[in-house]
Amino acid sequence: MGAVMVRCPETGRDIPTGLVTDRKSFDATPVFFARVYCPICRSEHEWFAKEAWVCEAEPRPRRGALL
Ligand SMILES: [Zn+2]
Repeated sequence: MGAVMVRCPETGRDIPTGLVTDRKSFDATPVFFARVYCPICRSEHEWFAKEAWVCEAEPRPRRGALL
């Protein structure tokens, strides 16, 4: 299980959507559209499931690996 994360379109920071699932069932989820309150911008962002990822609690390098 892990937190579903999205990237803030304003700051590029990773923010949690508040959803928790596992990667396999998230990948099987049909495309959906949701809103998340962004604590950085203090406003809501809209996001699509295809833009999100599941951050499972496995130790792995985060910052830098995606850049
Ligand atoms: Zn934001």
